[in-house]
Amino acid sequence: MTPSQLQALACEDCPADIRCTTLQGLNGPVLTVVITHEPTCPWLARVAPEGATLVRERGIVRHTARTTA
Ligand SMILES: [Zn+2]
Repeated sequence: MTPSQLQALACEDCPADIRCTTLQGLNGPVLTVVITHEPTCPWLARVAPEGATLVRERGIVRHTARTTA
């Protein structure tokens, strides 16, 4: 998947930031996609107010909210 395709998948409700990294797992590299939503994102508030980590066959998808530190 290309970065622009990933960006399109990130979120329909906010201009989410998306990052891909590869972590070393016990069975080899694991693709990890971190999607950082705006704190006001209605999708995140509805679906995963505490954030969520989804484990998929080919990697991990983590949804989180941008913190205003
Ligand atoms: Zn969002």
